[in-house]
Amino acid sequence: MAPLIELSGIRKRYPGGEQDVEVLHGIDLRIEAGEFVAIMGSSGSGKSTLMHILGCLDRASEGDYRFAGRDVGELDHQALAWLRREMFGFVFQSYHLISTASAWENVALPAIYAGLSRDQRRQRAQRLLTDLGLGDRLDHRPWQLSGGQQQRVSIARALMNGGRVILADEPTGALDSVSGEAVMTQLQALAEAGHTVIVITHDADVAAHADRVVELHDGRIVADTRRRPARRPGADAPDDLSPPEESRVPDAGEVGEAVTMALRSLRANWLRTLLTLLGIVIGVGAVVVMLAIGQGAKQDVVARIGDMGTNLLVIRPDRGQQRVADGVIATLVPADADALRELPNVRAAVPEIAGSVTARANGQDVTTSVKAVSEDYPVLRDWRPESGIFFSRVDQDRYAPVAVIGRTVREKLFGDGDALGQFILLDSIPFQVIGVMSAQGATNWGDDQDDVVFVPLSTGTLRLFGQNYLRSITLAVDDVAHIDATEQAAVELLTQRHGTEDVRVFNMASLLDMVSDTQNTLTMLLGSIAAISLLVGGIGVMNIMLVSVTERIHEIGIRMATGARQRNILQQFLTEAVVVSALGGVIGVALGVAVGLLLTLFGLPILFSVPVAVAAFLCAAVIGLVFGFAPALKAARLNPVEALSNE
Ligand code: ADP
Ligand code: MG
Repeated sequence: MAPLIELSGIRKRYPGGEQDVEVLHGIDLRIEAGEFVAIMGSSGSGKSTLMHILGCLDRASEGDYRFAGRDVGELDHQALAWLRREMFGFVFQSYHLISTASAWENVALPAIYAGLSRDQRRQRAQRLLTDLGLGDRLDHRPWQLSGGQQQRVSIARALMNGGRVILADEPTGALDSVSGEAVMTQLQALAEAGHTVIVITHDADVAAHADRVVELHDGRIVADTRRRPARRPGADAPDDLSPPEESRVPDAGEVGEAVTMALRSLRANWLRTLLTLLGIVIGVGAVVVMLAIGQGAKQDVVARIGDMGTNLLVIRPDRGQQRVADGVIATLVPADADALRELPNVRAAVPEIAGSVTARANGQDVTTSVKAVSEDYPVLRDWRPESGIFFSRVDQDRYAPVAVIGRTVREKLFGDGDALGQFILLDSIPFQVIGVMSAQGATNWGDDQDDVVFVPLSTGTLRLFGQNYLRSITLAVDDVAHIDATEQAAVELLTQRHGTEDVRVFNMASLLDMVSDTQNTLTMLLGSIAAISLLVGGIGVMNIMLVSVTERIHEIGIRMATGARQRNILQQFLTEAVVVSALGGVIGVALGVAVGLLLTLFGLPILFSVPVAVAAFLCAAVIGLVFGFAPALKAARLNPVEALSNE
């Protein structure tokens, strides 16, 4: 049967200056399962370097390392992590405990990567610590324990996953003689129990506990003395050494563990976390608010245009083609309106002449606008009299001197009094008021739409304007979907009637499209400003994760030594980045909604959108993932030995 450990021709070189420095010059060593071996040598002789190679924390530069017959040089990261996790248990001179974790959590660490549940971990860690006399120190932090106690915690950790091979590097180096003796007694007991124990020391008294002493001098083995026969030769030798097929995707338990660890480390640095969050919070909040403002403004404008009627086509004389008669553009005539009314899809065609008049009644004079229109104007604008009636076809035909006045005119001329049936003078011509229009309010441009007097087109052309060239003809269509076709038909008809194309058509539906496009652009602009702040937030997360990795290099080294896979480390830091960003996202959405609600109090039109909020939140999480990746990868790629030495 193959020996447990078989080194042949192991050399280790470190890059240094011009030439590499060779620290181990060809080590040949066999250690059987169940042996208790001391590797002894003076400081700088290469003991720790050898132990790192034995424990698969580092690779040899040259030579062959077989563990239970298997060539370690061939194993990948994943398999090496598995070996460290399942086969080795490390005990270091400086303990290498995670200072933010309690005693039992430190002990339980290797089992996280072996996949034990939290309860199982706690139970086993508790038992191990109790066996080592630390049953009453479970929840103490390392700094609350003496050196000897800390070393016992690290022995318990080495045993957590079985610890078939215990590798102890100067385990008593930092301890007083009594505690040191106690630790050696523990190791001896482990050897009795069948563990393979390899102790590294510069101290002959410590080495005396072992059954076999290998002496190292300047990177070479100079002596190999057996003092006693092996206690349990062949005990606990691993028979199957194929690392299991591991899935590359983390399971739910692992993710939960990573989130717990992430939250803990964020809590440990809560002020810093808060400041990091701020970037994301402002970014997400800004996205939510800006888009809500943009959408609100758009909805507002679209609604106002919609109020004016999206089914309308306004036909006006083309200024470029004008024929002028008596100072007015002589293009459109009332007969054109009659012809247009016959087109398919046209519900109403309202001719209009407008001008300014002085209206007088009750001894009051006001200047107002007068519109001479056809009787279907109320249908077209969906605007009806609140009292009285609008004039009819009969009024048109009879050139009736009747007027329908707007609310503003009524108030100016009649105050609170009744206007119906009264006479008003429009440029000295008497008209009888037969209706008062309901209040319409101001236009988007601030014009008071109620400051108006309507008269029949026929009466207006005859008595007020003295000519019958129209300012506009407004068409209302039945089916807005075909409004473009109707527009074309109207233009063709008028071109045919006039012999030349001399009108322009304003299509309210396309105006609406245009305005809505403009508003969308505005929204995009606001949104991209917000997105940039989100990006800046992401860079903040990256920055802080890089700091976090740098600060925790030692912890990463400990995790790797206890069997963490590169993937576990990557996952842990990614999780932290995502947790920070997602937390920022949640707070940001809440802040955005709060600010939005505040703005509505000031009368700003705000339109929140759930998809935007969800997208902003997801964006934040993804930014955490993206910007956390480089730091996390940096952490996962650390060399375990270098990481461990970083305290
Ligand atoms: P020991 O544990 O026996 O005291 P080490 O194995 O720690 O000795 O170191 C052996 C020699 O290797 C020392 O001279 C040390 O300077 C050198 N050495 C150890 N690690 C490195 C490293 N990462 N880079 C360069 N030289 C190193
Ligand atoms: Mg050393």
